[in-house]
Amino acid sequence: MKPLIGISTVLGFEMKRHFDKVCHYYAESVDRAGGLPFLLPLMDDASLAAEYVDRVDAIILSGGNEDVAPCSYGENPIRELTSIAPERDEWEFALYRAALEAGKPVLGVCRGCQVINVAEGGSLYQDIFVQRENILGHLPLGTEMHQLYHSVTLEPDSRLFSIFGKEHLRVNSYHHQAVKEPAPVFRVTARSEDGLIEAIEREGDLFVVGVQWHPEALTARHPHFVGLFRGLIEAVS
Ligand code: MN
Repeated sequence: MKPLIGISTVLGFEMKRHFDKVCHYYAESVDRAGGLPFLLPLMDDASLAAEYVDRVDAIILSGGNEDVAPCSYGENPIRELTSIAPERDEWEFALYRAALEAGKPVLGVCRGCQVINVAEGGSLYQDIFVQRENILGHLPLGTEMHQLYHSVTLEPDSRLFSIFGKEHLRVNSYHHQAVKEPAPVFRVTARSEDGLIEAIEREGDLFVVGVQWHPEALTARHPHFVGLFRGLIEAVS
């Protein structure tokens, strides 16, 4: 049986009603890596998170346009903060904690990387462009997401290094926020040239990796990114 990989979704409002939705590339990428993708709807009752996590083998916390609410890391919003969705934050914090509790691997993508950092007590830049000096390009709005955009440097002895087998990697970039203070349990394993944190990995045996880029949008044209999803799946016990 293929490992069942739960993918968090976003509650979208269209045509006067709510939809559970997520970019299809996650499902495609999980399939390419040999897993069976399974979408997790956003539920109000956080106690259901453990029920879902018990039934899947690993989870992916997906990306999205909603900034993590800054109150969850003890700040008030700056003007550059865009939209928030605290219900999504709470649900994904619950999924993450349930995954840790159950020993199930976690991949956090973009917003998902930020979510796992905040869940463990870390903080975020609400907007990298106004809160950091000498920032380079990270949000090419007119560019398709499958385009490799900037380089990152991977830490040796990291899970990412063993997945990609090299120190320098070109990735896409579609974010205006990033990890500021990593939670103590996380090790920074990739940075961009301007020093921004582009990936974190949790200390310990459990596979918990957060990447600031969007590997799901790269697997079709740049198959080495399938390796990240394969890494998640191979970590399933
Ligand atoms: Mn970036």
